Amino acid sequence: MYEGRVAWPTVDDFDAKLQYDGMLRYRREADGTHVGIIPAICKACGGPLHKVGVRARQRDGVMIVDCGRCVDAGLPGHALQFTAHEPAPDRVELDSTPYLSILPTMRP
Ligand SMILES: [Zn+2]
Repeated sequence: MYEGRVAWPTVDDFDAKLQYDGMLRYRREADGTHVGIIPAICKACGGPLHKVGVRARQRDGVMIVDCGRCVDAGLPGHALQFTAHEPAPDRVELDSTPYLSILPTMRP
């Protein structure tokens, strides 16, 4: 749980010095589709990402997840930032299960 101000990087300025949220999880479907798994709630505001909107993109070994509610609130930067150890997935899906240790205790 985060308290007080958290200094997020600006949108196109993610920083290797920033504390990452750990390794991104992936799974592969039977047809070979490569799926990245991102949490279903925002670590910063606790918003359910399927409702508040989410944008995820992977670049240079980092998966960046932006929460729609945080963006609408004018908060700079990224709600979540993961180390990506596989190529960019074909799509992402929302599943908090692998990330319970980093997420707020509140549930959507
Ligand atoms: Zn948020």
